[in-house]
Amino acid sequence: MTKPSYPSLEEDQQWESITTEKAHSLLQTPEQGLDDEEVLSRRDYYGENRLPEVRKRSVIRRFLVQFNNILIHVLIAAGLVTVALGEWLDASVIFGVVLINGIIGFIQEGKAEQAMESIRRMLSTRARVLRDGEHHEVDAAEIVPGDIILLESGDRVPADARLLAVKGLRTDESSLTGESVPVDKSTDPVEAGIAIADRLSMVWSGTLVTAGQGHALVTGTGEATELGRISQAAENAPELVTPLLRKIHQFGRQLTVLILALAALTYLAGTLWRGQPAAEMFFAAVSLAVAAIPEGLPAIITITLAIGVQAMARRNAIIRRLPAVETLGSVTVICSDKTGTLTRNEMTVRGIQTPSHAYAVTGAGYTREGDITAESNPSGDDRALDDLLLAGILCNDSHLKDTDQGIRIAGDPMEAALLILGDKAELDTRQLRKHWTRTDYIPFESDTRYMATLNHDHADDARILVKGAPERILPMCRGVCLEDGGDGPIDARSWEEVVHNYARQGRRTLAFAMKRVDPQHTVLKQEDAEEGLVLLGLIALEDPPRDEAIKAVSECREAGIRVKMITGDHLGTALAIGEQLGLRNTRKGMTGADFQQLDEDGIAAAAVEIDVFARFSPENKLTLVQALQKNNQITAMTGDGVNDSPALRSADVGVAMGRGGTEAAREASEVVLADDNFATIAGAVRTGRGVYDNIRKSLMFILPTNGGQALLILAAVVAGLTLPVTPVQVLWVNMVTAVTLALALTMEPTEPNVMRRPPRPPAEPIFTPFLSWRVIFVSFLILAATLSVFNLHIQDGMGIETARTAAVNTVIACQIFY
Ligand code: ATP
Repeated sequence: MTKPSYPSLEEDQQWESITTEKAHSLLQTPEQGLDDEEVLSRRDYYGENRLPEVRKRSVIRRFLVQFNNILIHVLIAAGLVTVALGEWLDASVIFGVVLINGIIGFIQEGKAEQAMESIRRMLSTRARVLRDGEHHEVDAAEIVPGDIILLESGDRVPADARLLAVKGLRTDESSLTGESVPVDKSTDPVEAGIAIADRLSMVWSGTLVTAGQGHALVTGTGEATELGRISQAAENAPELVTPLLRKIHQFGRQLTVLILALAALTYLAGTLWRGQPAAEMFFAAVSLAVAAIPEGLPAIITITLAIGVQAMARRNAIIRRLPAVETLGSVTVICSDKTGTLTRNEMTVRGIQTPSHAYAVTGAGYTREGDITAESNPSGDDRALDDLLLAGILCNDSHLKDTDQGIRIAGDPMEAALLILGDKAELDTRQLRKHWTRTDYIPFESDTRYMATLNHDHADDARILVKGAPERILPMCRGVCLEDGGDGPIDARSWEEVVHNYARQGRRTLAFAMKRVDPQHTVLKQEDAEEGLVLLGLIALEDPPRDEAIKAVSECREAGIRVKMITGDHLGTALAIGEQLGLRNTRKGMTGADFQQLDEDGIAAAAVEIDVFARFSPENKLTLVQALQKNNQITAMTGDGVNDSPALRSADVGVAMGRGGTEAAREASEVVLADDNFATIAGAVRTGRGVYDNIRKSLMFILPTNGGQALLILAAVVAGLTLPVTPVQVLWVNMVTAVTLALALTMEPTEPNVMRRPPRPPAEPIFTPFLSWRVIFVSFLILAATLSVFNLHIQDGMGIETARTAAVNTVIACQIFY
C-alpha cells in the first residue's frame, strides 16, 4: 500500500477563501465523513489534537520553593548561628529538620499537584463528529484534519475548521482575537488572508459557540491551529493556594515575629536579669524559636486539601479550583437544576391528548415494550395522533442505537422518549426520516422554548413541524386538528386545564403543532414558524426524582442547607416534583417572569422564601444568586447551558454538569459533577466540611505541642533553671509529631455528624476563641507535666541527661495522649 498523501496544514492554505466543495476535495473527506480506518491513519500522520503541555516547574525549583517560607528562614538562620557557635551536633539536626521538612513538603505538594492534574484530565473536552454517516461523541484529542465536526451552542470549538453549514451560528472569539462581541458565522468564502477576526467562514479552536449550530470541516489540529500558533501552551499549572492557606501563611508570619520577639526577650531576660552566660542564653533563645515554630503546618494543610480533592473526585465531584474545597464546607444554599440533576432524566411518555381524544402510554424507560391505548376512542382513527407521532420523529435531533446492553440514546433524553413513542406506535423512524427530508430548521433554545423543522416529502407535501412548551405553542395556533384531519377552533382555556392536570402529577408537557406550506418553501423563518399553526396535541412525560436526590435533600435539610430547585419547566410540574423531593416550601413557587417583576426588596424576600423557581431564564438565575449573596448566603448553583456562565461565575460555588453540560458552563464553574447528580453535591459539601474539620484538628494538635515546648524553655530561663529540653530534642519531637501524628489527622474520616450541624458562619475565622483558648490551655498542661517530671528527676539526683530524657518522653506522652 502506498503511503497516503495528506494535505499540509500550513498557514497559507487559505481555507477561508475556497468553496466548501474545494475544501472537501483538498482534505479528501467524503460527504458522510471519514471512516475509522482513515481516522486512525490520519492520526498517525498528523498526531493527536493537543497542544504541548506547559513546561512544569523543574523538580529542583519545586524542591527549593519548599524553603521559601519564613518559618523555615528562621530555622536556617538559627542553624547558621549554631554553626558559628561551633555546636555541630545541634546545627546538623537543625539543618536535618529543614531538609526533612523540605522533602515532605516536596512530596506532598507533588501529590497534590498530581491529584489536581489527574482531575484535569478527567475533564477532557468532548466533541461530536460525523464519521461514516453516523454521529459520534469523541474526545477532542482524537479529532483529525478532514473530520466533520458538529457544533452547537455551549461547545468549545475543538479544532480550526472551515464551515460547511450554519444555522444562526455565533462564536465568542475573545480568547483569540480579544474581540468581546460574538461573531456571526457564515459559509461563504471570504477574501484570502484577511485578519483572523474577519474570516467568517472559519471557526477557531478554543473559541466558544454562543448560539446556533453548524457543521465544519477540520483544517487544523493541535499545534497547527491558530491557538497553537499564538499560545504554545495548553494548561496552566494548578493553583494550590487557597484563601485558607493564605490565612495560614499570614498567621505563620505573625507567629514568627512573635516568636522572634519572645526569643529576644528570653535572651535579654537571661543575660541581663538572671546574669546567665551570653552563649548559653543565646542557645536558649534559639531553642525557643525552634520549639515554637510549627514548621510542618503549611504542608499539613496542603495535604489535607489534596486528600479532600481526591475524596471528592472518587465520588464524582471534580474540583476545578482548590478553594472550592473550603467553600463547599460552608455552603448555606444549594440552587439546583431539576431535569437530570434532581430527576433521573429517563423520560417516558405517559399520556397523549389530541383535540379529539386522550391516550395512555404504557412501558417505562428506554425500552420498546409498551402500547398506546385510547382512553376515549374505540374506533382508533385519529389524524391528529398520526401527525403528532410523525412530528415527534421529525422535529427531533436524537438517535437511538441498539446495543447489547439495550438501547443507547444519543441526544436529548426527552426527544429520545419521542422516538420510543414512535416505536411503540410501530413507526419506522429511519424510513420516515428518509422520506421526509429536513430542508431547514430552528433549533431549540431555552429562551424561545420551542423547536421547528421544515420537512418535504417526495409527493410535494411540505410542512412546518413545531414542538415546545405549551404556553409558547398555544398562542401560535389558529386552530386544532380534528380526528378526520379537518380544522377546528382552539379553546385555550381547556388546553391549559389539560396542562394543569398533567403538571399536578409531576409530568412535563410538550405541545405539537404543524402548518402545511407551499412545496417551493425551503427556508424556515421565525415568523413562519410562530403563527398560523394547527395544534396536534399535547404529550405528558414522566421524569421521576432520583431516589438518592430525595435522600440528599433531607440530609441537606438536617445540615441547615436550603435546597432550591430551578427549572425551565412548568411551575405546576416543578411544584409537584419539589414535593416528591421533600423541599421545604412547596406551597408556593414562582416563575421567572413574576420574579423579574418584583422590586429589589421583593426579589430579596422571594430569593429567601421560595424554593421552587420555574420557567427560569439564565438572567433570572443570576439575579437570584446575587439576591441570595446580598442576604449573606453562601450559594452553590448548578448550571449546564452556555448562558448559565454568569450565574455560575457569580455563585460562591458554581457547579457544572459533566455529562449533559456544555464546555462553557464547565469553564465557569469551580466544581464539575461527573454524574450530573444532586446527591453528589451534598456529598461534596459533606467532604468539604470534613476537610475543614481536619485542618482545625491538625492546628489544634500541632500548636499546643509547639506552645508547650516554647513555654518550657521560657519558664526555665525565667526561673534560672537548666534547659529541660535541648533544641535537638525539640526538633526531633516536632518532626516526629508533624509527620506521624498530625499527618494521621489529615486522613481522619469525616465525622458522622457533620451533616447534622448548621453551616459554619461565613465570617467565622479559623482561630475561633474556643480554638485559641484550647491551644493555650493544652500548652500549659504540657508545660506543667513536663516541668514536674524534669524537676522530680533532678531532685532525685538522676543527672541532667536522664532528666532531659524523661522530659522529652513526657512531651511525647502528652502529645500521644492528647
Ligand atoms: P431544567 O432547567 O431543570 O434542566 P428543563 O430541561 O425543563 O429543566 P429547558 O430545557 O429550558 O428546561 O426547557 C424548558 C421547556 O422547553 C420544557 O419544559 C419544554 O416544554 C420545552 N423544551 C425542552 N426541550 C425541548 C426541545 N428539545 N424541543 C422543544 N421544546 C423543548
